[in-house]
Amino acid sequence: MSSIIQLLPDHVANQIAAGEVVQRPASVVKELLENAVDARSTDIKLIIKDAGKALVQVIDNGLGMSVTDARLCFERHATSKIRKAEDLFSLHTKGFRGEALASIAAIAHVEMKTKQDQEELGTQIIVEGSKFVSQEVAVLPKGTSFAVKNLFFNIPARRNFLKSDTVELRHIVDEFQRVALAHPNIYFTFYHNGSEMFNLPGSSLRQRIVNIFSGKTNQKLVPVQEETEIVTIQGFVSKPEFAKKNRGEQFFFVNDRYIKSGYLHHAVMAAYDGILKDGAQPSYFLYLTVPPNTIDINIHPTKTEIKFDDEHALYAILRASIKHSLGQFNVAPVLDFDRDSNLDTPYHYKDLKGATPTIQVDGSFNPFSDDKVNKHYSSYKKPEPTSNWESLYVGLKQDSEFSTGSADFSFESEEVTGSLFNDGEVEQTVHSAYQIHKKYIVSSIKSGMVIVDQQRAHQRVLYEQFLINMTVNQASSQQLLFPLDLFFSSVEMELIEELKLSLVNTGFVFEETKKDHIVISGIPVNVTESEVSLVLEQLLSDLQDGIPESSFSQNDSIAKSMAKSLAVKTGTPLTVKEQENLVNGLFACKEPNVSPFQKPTFITMRVEDLDKKFAI
Ligand code: ADP
Ligand code: MG
Repeated sequence: MSSIIQLLPDHVANQIAAGEVVQRPASVVKELLENAVDARSTDIKLIIKDAGKALVQVIDNGLGMSVTDARLCFERHATSKIRKAEDLFSLHTKGFRGEALASIAAIAHVEMKTKQDQEELGTQIIVEGSKFVSQEVAVLPKGTSFAVKNLFFNIPARRNFLKSDTVELRHIVDEFQRVALAHPNIYFTFYHNGSEMFNLPGSSLRQRIVNIFSGKTNQKLVPVQEETEIVTIQGFVSKPEFAKKNRGEQFFFVNDRYIKSGYLHHAVMAAYDGILKDGAQPSYFLYLTVPPNTIDINIHPTKTEIKFDDEHALYAILRASIKHSLGQFNVAPVLDFDRDSNLDTPYHYKDLKGATPTIQVDGSFNPFSDDKVNKHYSSYKKPEPTSNWESLYVGLKQDSEFSTGSADFSFESEEVTGSLFNDGEVEQTVHSAYQIHKKYIVSSIKSGMVIVDQQRAHQRVLYEQFLINMTVNQASSQQLLFPLDLFFSSVEMELIEELKLSLVNTGFVFEETKKDHIVISGIPVNVTESEVSLVLEQLLSDLQDGIPESSFSQNDSIAKSMAKSLAVKTGTPLTVKEQENLVNGLFACKEPNVSPFQKPTFITMRVEDLDKKFAI
């Protein structure tokens, strides 16, 4: 049989490689930014059009390339960063594979301009789908500019696979932030469709974090610093009271390279053990420096995992140093989103324990003073336990009142959800309801009984309420006594601007919209003041993660997200009245059978079904 194996032509090989290296516009952003950093630039501009689908351009003031290199850089395995295999174990650059530019040029229209400092003139090259279209000598400033247009122009399937602009932009912003955080000394700017999204002058790390994540971030940060033989750790973690519900701002950098590590994340979480509420996520910006020969980054080009020689030691050191920092900065009590006082009590005890030494060592205590008894007594009494006493008392009283042990802490749920259930507004048709496992509500109906999932049912009720408000434009809002100042990043501010009209229709009143914050003077009736920032934060992250794609419209996504954040959760005890209102509210809905996320909200059991079960 004749031989059938052939070497693939370069442009085909490049296109195949591109499938691995370039998954979306954000991959191009990452590669170009990293090349600019490797070229020792001090000023890097990122310019994006249509979430990178039309244009990704990076302009730097770095080393530039010679005429020969300008042409060579588009070849596969063409790199100036390593020469021999050993170099792989002492990497000081981001790139080393020499495949990014070849891959990008295979699937886009690329225009490159580059000039070295010492040269008079520079080179301008145009490549389209691996074909060199032109090469010219040009008058250019020092540095390099890559403009990548019409990504995937020759692979329509990939192009169609791209997500909405909001989602693709989110990916780009993520990549940009990772590079910008890894190099706070470099001046980065970022423009999207002509408007400036980030302007980050070279600065300290702390200032860089604040510039990216808004001015309010500063007060949240606790510095972490540790130097050992195997690792140097630097950076910041957030105070526990600023923990978020989503894992937005968590960054590890190893030797200035952004990495993901479930294992190290676990070490951070272990340091917060006992001071965060379940599910809450701290922010962290942690920079590990290790000898280059103790890590292996020689993995897949788009992956961000890394292998360490001594992972266990890193884990222990990281955990200990964060714990130490949190301890030093006098960790405040946890901000309890659901205000579940069952959880408050143990935290409070914890605090009291921690404070014991200061109570014992009372510097002002003078045994010879006349009023010693009073003085001592009053300082002893100070740690304001009044509210706790009350709540303990209420709890006990309730327990004895409802001796069935149904955990019916009505005062608690009123605080959390009081405004969510408007007494008397819904026609009272359910007269008896019973909550089981703080999750389901059982009620009797004509044909038998109904079992309602409280969380999903409430999501449905709220979802329809929000939708009606938004489409009929007649939301009522509650005026705030003191307007709320809420800070957001520039990306979030852009989204808020887009959503403003819909948000106003749900009942938000915007007093002012500034560059990095908004002032809210009114909120929807079914939201409490303490929930506002959380609801908005969740909404923005839902929209950026792509909920819109499963939704019909912007209004629909907003209604879904807000219903999700505001609905009573599984595990929340409800009063009988609240249970009744919820069940009645659900059955007054247009589509009571499913939650906004298409999950069943209730099941029924007919009397006959029950009869059958008893007939043996
Ligand atoms: P790698 O970064 O892995 O070396 P790339 O394909 O990204 O591979 O780049 C190929 C080469 O092109 C680099 O090694 C570098 O010499 C050169 N290069 C790329 N971008 C720039 C830039 N912005 N400034 C100067 N040189 C660059
Ligand atoms: Mg590169």
